[in-house]
Amino acid sequence: AQVFEEQRREKRTPFSVEMFPPKGQLTLDAAREVVEGLRAASPDFISVTCSAGGSGNGSGGQTVAIAELIQDEAAIPAVAHFTCVSATRDSVNQAISDLRTAGVRTVLALRGDLVEGQEPADFPYACELIPLLKDAGFCVGAAAYPEGHIDCLDPRENLRHLKAKQEVGADFFITQLFFNNDDFYRFRDDAAAVGVTAPITCGIMPFLGKSQIQRMVFLCGSSLPAPIIKLLAKYEDDPASLRQAGIEYACNQLVDLGRQGVDGLHVYAMNQPDIAHAAAGAIAAAGLR
Ligand code: FAD
Repeated sequence: AQVFEEQRREKRTPFSVEMFPPKGQLTLDAAREVVEGLRAASPDFISVTCSAGGSGNGSGGQTVAIAELIQDEAAIPAVAHFTCVSATRDSVNQAISDLRTAGVRTVLALRGDLVEGQEPADFPYACELIPLLKDAGFCVGAAAYPEGHIDCLDPRENLRHLKAKQEVGADFFITQLFFNNDDFYRFRDDAAAVGVTAPITCGIMPFLGKSQIQRMVFLCGSSLPAPIIKLLAKYEDDPASLRQAGIEYACNQLVDLGRQGVDGLHVYAMNQPDIAHAAAGAIAAAGLR
């Protein structure tokens, strides 16, 4: 929240990136390498995802340890994602204590997705987790969905749930990925009309390949505009050019959003520092930071 205020005062657009805990062995060493790469893009903060399964409370999968290393070794503010759908009160309290010990003060409170056959434990929705995190003294972000959450077909209900998260304490929002900026501008107006005043930072993910983007849109319900479908067709047999086209498309989206005065630009960098660099370069070249 402080980042958004400071940047606004300095007339800069806050720029941040998301990373995920690397899979496999020696994840902290692999994460350190990713963080080093992302650091060169000078993000205002780095957020670290967490798995909704397992402990489901942000303490699993190295999220807290990576957030700590981002802050201590790279000297960049970290945001630890914190999923609750499979968490119990005890596991949430344990995760809060782990985050405090690590010195992480900002979290992104999320429901997460249940694995098939699983029932929610003590926190079926993010808005039930947020007050606990606020009471524990955290700055708390939450998720926003410009095209609506995949389980929510009614746009008004989508806005009601967004506003409910602000009412229970969300200090800022990060959006789900979207490819058509007009969807975001409409959503921003609608959110303002129902009284959402917390900053909403735009989450942008470049498409890098056909299967990656198909997987993403099926998972989150974001729509693929015709220009992207044409690029996917044009570069079907040329993965390197398709990747480049995806990064360029994302950079153009970011510049347009920045020029329209959005609250922040957040890049799903997928642990690939060149994506963060390209985005930071485009934003800087447009005079937005
Ligand atoms: P909620 O806000 O709880 O909403 C979930 C659904 O329930 C929505 O359809 C909403 O409309 C509905 N709803 C909300 N409140 C109520 C209510 N009171 N009654 C009835 N319905 C209600 N997932 C991970 O597992 N790990 C991550 O690190 C992660 N990071 C993410 C980062 C961002 C920026 C975003 C946008 C998503 C991320 N996700 C992550 C995905 C997220 O967990 C899923 O989208 C999940 O399905 C919803 O999470 P939420 O916090 O938005 O849920």
